[in-house]
Amino acid sequence: MTDLLLVNANVLTMDPARPRARSVAIAGGRIVALDADLPAREVIDLRGSTLLPGFHDAHNHMAWYGLTLAEVDLSAAAVGSLHELYAAVAGRARDTAADSWIVGSRYDQNKLETHPDREGLDRAAPGRRVWLRHVSGHMCVVSSAVLADLGMTDHPVDVPGGTVVTDAAGRPTGLLQERAQELAADLLHPYPLAVIADAIDRAGTRYLSEGITSCTEAGIGGGWIGHTPAELAAYQAARDAGRLKVRVELMIASDALHPLAAHPDDGLDLGLDLGIHTGFGDDWLRIGAMKVFADGSLVGRTAAMSDDYADAPGNRGYLQADADQLTATIIAAHRSGWQVATHAIGDRTIDVVLDAYDQAQTRYPRPDPRHRIEHFAVSRSSQVARAARLGVIAVPQGRFASEIGDGMLAALGPDRHSWLYRQRSLLAAGMTLPGSSDRPVVSGAPLLGVHDMVSRRTASGALFNPGEAITADEALHAYTTGSAYASHAEHVKGVIAPGKLADLVVLSEDPTAVSPESIAGIEVVATFVGGECRFAAVGADLPR
Ligand SMILES: [Zn+2]
Repeated sequence: MTDLLLVNANVLTMDPARPRARSVAIAGGRIVALDADLPAREVIDLRGSTLLPGFHDAHNHMAWYGLTLAEVDLSAAAVGSLHELYAAVAGRARDTAADSWIVGSRYDQNKLETHPDREGLDRAAPGRRVWLRHVSGHMCVVSSAVLADLGMTDHPVDVPGGTVVTDAAGRPTGLLQERAQELAADLLHPYPLAVIADAIDRAGTRYLSEGITSCTEAGIGGGWIGHTPAELAAYQAARDAGRLKVRVELMIASDALHPLAAHPDDGLDLGLDLGIHTGFGDDWLRIGAMKVFADGSLVGRTAAMSDDYADAPGNRGYLQADADQLTATIIAAHRSGWQVATHAIGDRTIDVVLDAYDQAQTRYPRPDPRHRIEHFAVSRSSQVARAARLGVIAVPQGRFASEIGDGMLAALGPDRHSWLYRQRSLLAAGMTLPGSSDRPVVSGAPLLGVHDMVSRRTASGALFNPGEAITADEALHAYTTGSAYASHAEHVKGVIAPGKLADLVVLSEDPTAVSPESIAGIEVVATFVGGECRFAAVGADLPR
């Protein structure tokens, strides 16, 4: 007797060995058979709806996103001008106690006239501590009260790997880039675990409604990306309380790793206490890669390029750490058994990271390390070929095209347009392409990602390196099999096949059978995790 039989479905299995089916049998949280007429405790007739493996976002910031849901929304959809941004800050100031911080997120200076500044914040919320995070997460703006707390009302302090931006008179404007953000974050961190667990719950609820059943959290526990050194405990607390809604793989920020006093023969140069590393955990909560930041952002024009930014002569961005130091960290993590996921945007940075992966594997060969380059935003053709040769996984974000693509085109200029956020050439080189959003940097609904991976247009309607467009089928593979592979999890998920986890999404229409423009409007009807229906759309005739 099986637990559940889903019948009369248009099943896109994503399994090349058997691409299509009409029914799926589930027992013990796993898929047990396709197109088999087995007795089942429960039968659901999907009436021709499309059934896919649950979506897996290979790079998102779950806790950060959950936190933003409670912060002042400064996204382009919420505030259309600097004036409106300051009004939103003033509104939050009126509604909160005078000693509490005002935290806002997702502003984009490309869509405003310029960055907000301390004077504007001081006028909007006199005397208050205000912290506004850029949409990229790579910079923030703070008010004078925060600068005073940091002892830099009139003079900046020097921060390696970051910049305290100053005006013509040498006075901080409030804008803090890259690692300089940690100065402000350190005043607020660590967050209590309960606050983060709430954020994880809020985020997971949203994910289920979008068909996401797995996600990879791209950095916890340290650096500007972490919220507390005990961040893993927040995920565990959420899980213990039944509030972890989707399966999560946790990347650990490199700052959280340290040398271990193990036997020298073990080569554990860098790790977490007890030697815990990539792969530890289970199907619900698992330790993934070590996350290291090699550079900054393209829209913020801080990522390290081999040539000047098109609209900022003389600026080529910068590495977040000295290249030798970065290489040493990568090699030590590789040697200690970690999968390494390096944030690298600019082509100069990608060179440094590929060199480091190459050296690591040459000096300490390991089977199938699957090191990753997060974003892989601006790459020359020779770098694609080299990444493929080294077995490196590039993890680009499809949705960047329509939400922040115009800013990227301006930063890069026409000469390097064809280097931008490749997809087609990665597949052509034989690489595996995962699907990811970098939420909350942009919207994270996978169908929006699939739409942009196929359409490749910016908000203004400009084509976004259109030669790199892929088909809806390829984009769906990215969000299922591609992401599973990037997590070393293709043996348990990513396809609908006997033995795999019964993580499934029911869609109102088949994304491969509609026009590209229609993909974003397809409805998620239901989401199953481990064979249980965890989300059903209002009006859907399914058990909740
Ligand atoms: Zn990210």
